[in-house]
Amino acid sequence: MSLNLNQAEFLRSAAKPEDFPRDGLPQVVFAGRSNVGKSSVLNRLLNRKNFARVGAAPGKTTHINYFLLDRQLYLVDLPGYGYAKVSKAEKARWGRLIESWFADPSLMTLGVQIVDARHKPTADDITMCTCFQDSGKPFVVVANKLDKLKKSEITPNLARIRETLGLEDSIQVIPFSAVKGDGRETLLALLERSAGRGPLSSGADGQTD
Ligand code: GDP
Repeated sequence: MSLNLNQAEFLRSAAKPEDFPRDGLPQVVFAGRSNVGKSSVLNRLLNRKNFARVGAAPGKTTHINYFLLDRQLYLVDLPGYGYAKVSKAEKARWGRLIESWFADPSLMTLGVQIVDARHKPTADDITMCTCFQDSGKPFVVVANKLDKLKKSEITPNLARIRETLGLEDSIQVIPFSAVKGDGRETLLALLERSAGRGPLSSGADGQTD
């Protein structure tokens, strides 16, 4: 099934569980450290310039943004984490919001964690990844900013990401560049599968449970 990417609209910013859509449509959730390029990845995926805002107030950590794609699928943009200037109180609010999202297993169809292809994943990345892996839902890692790597760095960096996050072999790491477009087709295919087939099995291999 092919998604009409021109049919994408911002739905709402959710600050509490009552605001989470629960209408049974598939939900693909994106998480990542602040500044990792999450907005840029979403924009690249949809071939838009300013759909999800780039460089939007770092540390605005208390809202989950929902976008509706082709009336078939939600793109769920979790607030970025790891921004140094965020207060303890706001970090706690972030934690409660994310916990409440993960607490309802009916919400997530596919999890997408974005990390920086250049760096070893941070402690916060590992925590986030654990949430995804513990959910038992299909999950992939996007290693963004690939264009910033030398060719010789790609394989070792991807291996380091896999090892640091403790990824099972079945979990895909997608080398991605929001700037150049690498990885877009792979991620888009996963979105389309999520839209067409409802919940995917663990490992995002497209088999239904
Ligand atoms: P967010 O805070 O995770 O939403 O990150 P943004 O999308 O705002 O991007 C943060 C910065 O990284 C911006 O300056 C982007 O232009 C830059 N950026 C994002 N993705 C890429 C990428 O794939 N390659 C390069 N070179 N820069 C990127």
